[in-house]
Amino acid sequence: MSVSLLKKLNPLSKLGNKSYSVLIPFLITLLTFLLIETYAYLVGNPLAVGTPAIFSALALTIYFSARDGVRGGAIAAVLSVGYYLYIIYSRNYTGQQLTSGVVLTFLLGALYLIVALVLGWLRQRIDTLIEKEAYEKIRLQAILKQLPAGVLITGPKNKIEYINQQLEKMIDGKVEVGDSINNHENPFLTLLYKTARQRKATAELKFEGKNKRIRYFKISNSEVLDKKGKQIAKVFIVDDISLEKELEKRKDDFINMASHELKTPLTSLNLYASLFKKNAASLKNEKHTLLADNIKTQIERLQRLVDDLLDVSRIQTGKLTFSKDKFRLDDMIEETLEIFQASTPQNLVLSKKNQVSLVADKFRIYQVFANILSNAIKYSSSSGDIIVEVKKINGQAVVSVKDSGIGISKQEQTKIFDRLYQVNEETVKTFPGFGMGLYISKEIIKRHKGRIWVDSEKDKGSTFYFSLPIN
Ligand code: ADP
Repeated sequence: MSVSLLKKLNPLSKLGNKSYSVLIPFLITLLTFLLIETYAYLVGNPLAVGTPAIFSALALTIYFSARDGVRGGAIAAVLSVGYYLYIIYSRNYTGQQLTSGVVLTFLLGALYLIVALVLGWLRQRIDTLIEKEAYEKIRLQAILKQLPAGVLITGPKNKIEYINQQLEKMIDGKVEVGDSINNHENPFLTLLYKTARQRKATAELKFEGKNKRIRYFKISNSEVLDKKGKQIAKVFIVDDISLEKELEKRKDDFINMASHELKTPLTSLNLYASLFKKNAASLKNEKHTLLADNIKTQIERLQRLVDDLLDVSRIQTGKLTFSKDKFRLDDMIEETLEIFQASTPQNLVLSKKNQVSLVADKFRIYQVFANILSNAIKYSSSSGDIIVEVKKINGQAVVSVKDSGIGISKQEQTKIFDRLYQVNEETVKTFPGFGMGLYISKEIIKRHKGRIWVDSEKDKGSTFYFSLPIN
């Protein structure tokens, strides 16, 4: 494989095949000089060899250095010098003739050696470069062949320059090099083309294969640009993520089912606890009343967790729906603060309260605020104040909750709104939670065409904001 590719790249190359010849330059040069000698003998003029000897020696040196590198050229050059000395010796040159003969031999010999060196070196260098490039290509092809991902490379006009077997297998079809990926008979390639045009570095793609099997692929693509910044190729890496998708779906289904199943018994339990509490209160049994309160607190915690799980599952399955209520956001915030203040030692301060009327899902917006507020309480010490503001800015309602707690590093700030994400640090691990609150909040705010974000510094505190358009 390597040899055949080398030959294709440079038919003259001897590398990877056989080393440069030494014998052929030697024999051919010797034979040429023998022929010249025979010619001189036949025409009966020993001095007739001068010009043919000089030209054939030069020609042989050039030819063999180009053909067999420095060594080939040097053999021809050395043999030529030998032949010239033989001429001087056999023709019995004397005096002036002998001196100029030797000087000429010396000069021509030096010239031939220089020619051999320069041309031979060039030849060898070119071969080495070609060989290097060929081996690089071979290595790359070996990698592409064994990669667990599909690879497709397109050149100008979206023409396919390379596709590996893995990708052909994934997309159920043979693809010819030279085909265009736009309007290709294999619909996968057309989809790929559309994704590439969206100029996103990664994308997910749903594809129905031959036997109607739905599969999911993750595609990353990157452009190869030339020196002037013009795109000369595009490389696509395709991963089959069907299995991950299937597992994710099963997990979502399970969470959905489990939380639904948990909801009913929890509601009953809460009811029984209330009855128990009422009973204990009427009997003036303080111990039992306290016990009932504790049971209710734990049940309510569980209920909140189950509700969060259900919300996450609703988001995943696209089933989170919203009602439209007209309400005063600032009043809702104030009331919520009063309720929370009753059960927390921190000072909850409403430092700014612009009047804001909204049409939105009141319960869901309350849920967002309650989550941010309880996080501010949870992730800060009991002595710090928590400052809340409701403002009207450029047709937007902006709510902010500022704490002076443990803070969040810049790195983590981008991830805390992801599903089930919790900051992975020893100090944070000690706080209870599941990392669902901010994910749900973000979805609720996004669906209300608003924005949620955080401004925070590690160990200094955080300010969470959300904004909603005032309709
Ligand atoms: P959790 O139930 O873990 O609180 P959230 O989705 O509400 O889940 O928050 C995600 C993570 O963001 C938390 O685990 C915590 O690490 C970090 N976080 C949220 N709010 C704050 C805050 N006010 N101060 C510091 N860290 C916070």
